[in-house]
Amino acid sequence: MNAQIAVIKGDGIGPEIVTEALKILDKVSEKFGHHFEYVPVLMGGCSIDATGVPLTDEAIETCKKSDAVLLGAIGGDTTTSPWYKLDPSLRPEAGLLKLRKALGLFANIRPAYLYKELKAACPLKDEIIGDGFDMVIMRELTGGLYFGDRKTVQENGVLKAYDSLTYDENEIRRIAVKGFETAMKRKKHVTSVDKANVLDSSRLWRKVVDEVAKDYPEVTYEHMLVDNCAMQLVKDPRQFDVILTENMFGDILSDEASEVTGSIGMLSSASLCETSLGLYEPSHGSAPDIAGTDQANPLATILSAAMLLRYSLNLDAEADAVEAAVQKTLEDGYRTVDIQDGKGKLVGCKAMGDAVAERI
Ligand code: NAD
Repeated sequence: MNAQIAVIKGDGIGPEIVTEALKILDKVSEKFGHHFEYVPVLMGGCSIDATGVPLTDEAIETCKKSDAVLLGAIGGDTTTSPWYKLDPSLRPEAGLLKLRKALGLFANIRPAYLYKELKAACPLKDEIIGDGFDMVIMRELTGGLYFGDRKTVQENGVLKAYDSLTYDENEIRRIAVKGFETAMKRKKHVTSVDKANVLDSSRLWRKVVDEVAKDYPEVTYEHMLVDNCAMQLVKDPRQFDVILTENMFGDILSDEASEVTGSIGMLSSASLCETSLGLYEPSHGSAPDIAGTDQANPLATILSAAMLLRYSLNLDAEADAVEAAVQKTLEDGYRTVDIQDGKGKLVGCKAMGDAVAERI
C-alpha cells in the first residue's frame, strides 16, 4: 500500500516521541511491503514561532489531502512560555481545535488496556483486575453540552447560567455506527451509556442506537446509565469492550478508564471523521518538564500509530504486529522512567523505540 501521512511533531517531547513512532512505521513498511510518505506539518508553538499562527491554512490542506495525521503533542509551559501571553485564539491549543474542526473529527477513541506487566500501576485490587482489561471509549466529540448554546443572565438581581445539551439523530447515528464498526474489529460488544431516565437527548440517543444495532446482528449490546457506568468501571472493568457515549459523559469516563490503567505515557487515542481520515495522538501533553532529556515514554505515540494503521489504513495485521511488539518489549522488562517498577531495564525514549522496532 502507498499512503501519505501528515506528521505533526509539535512541541516539547513531541519531536522525540514522533521520531520513535516513525521508526516503527518504517519497520512495518519494510516488513509488510508498504510505502508510507511522511509530510511534515507545523502546528502549535513551533508554528507560532515560524509563521505567527498556531496552524496555517496550508497546513490544514496538507492534512486534508493525507490518508492520516500523526501528532505528537503541542504546547509549552503555560506559566513561563511566551506563547501563553498571546491572545487565546493564537495560542498553541487553538491550532489543535482548528484542525479538529477543519477535519470534522466527531468520534474520539481512547483505549484503556491494562498490560499485565504494569499491573502494579493499576489502583484497583488484584481480584478486580483478574487477567487485565481491554476496552475502548468511543466518545462523540463535536456535539452535546460543550457545543450547545450557553449564556449567563441576570434575573431579578440573581445571576443565572444556561448550557444546552442538543443532539440530532444524524449526529447520534454516525457515532453509533463508528461504535458498532469498532466493536466488529474487537470483541463485538457495545455498552451504550446515557442518562435516559432523566434527559430527552439520552432517550433519543437510545432510540437511534437501537436502530443502528439492527445492522450489526453479530454485536451484542446493552444500555447503561452513566452513573452506573462510572461505578462499573472500577467495580468490574473486564465487562467492557466498546463504551459508546456522548461528549461530556465520554470526557469524564475516558479519564476515569485511563486512570485505572495507571500510566499516562501508555495511552493512545484516535479522532475519526466520516471518511477514513483520522488524527492519531497520545493522550498526554507535551511534557515540557522532560523535553529534550530522552526520558519521554514513546509507547502512547507508537500505540497511536498502531491505531492509525488499523482505522485509517485498514491494516489490521500490521496494527496487531505493533501492539504485540509493545507487549513483548514490556514483557522483556524495558521501562521508561514513568513506568519504572524497580525490576526492569530503565531506558530512554530512543532505546524504547529501538526495542519495539526490533520486536516487529
Ligand atoms: P502533560 O501530559 O504534558 O504532563 C503531565 C506530567 O506527565 C508531566 O510530569 C510529564 O513529564 C508527564 N508525562 C507526560 N507525557 C509523558 C510521557 N510520554 N512520558 C513520560 N512522562 C510523561 O500535561 P501538562 O504538563 O498539564 O501540559 C503540558 C503542555 O501540554 C501544556 O502546554 C498543555 O496545554 C499541553 N497539552 C497538549 C495536549 C495535546 O497536544 N493534545 C494535551 C494535553 C496537554
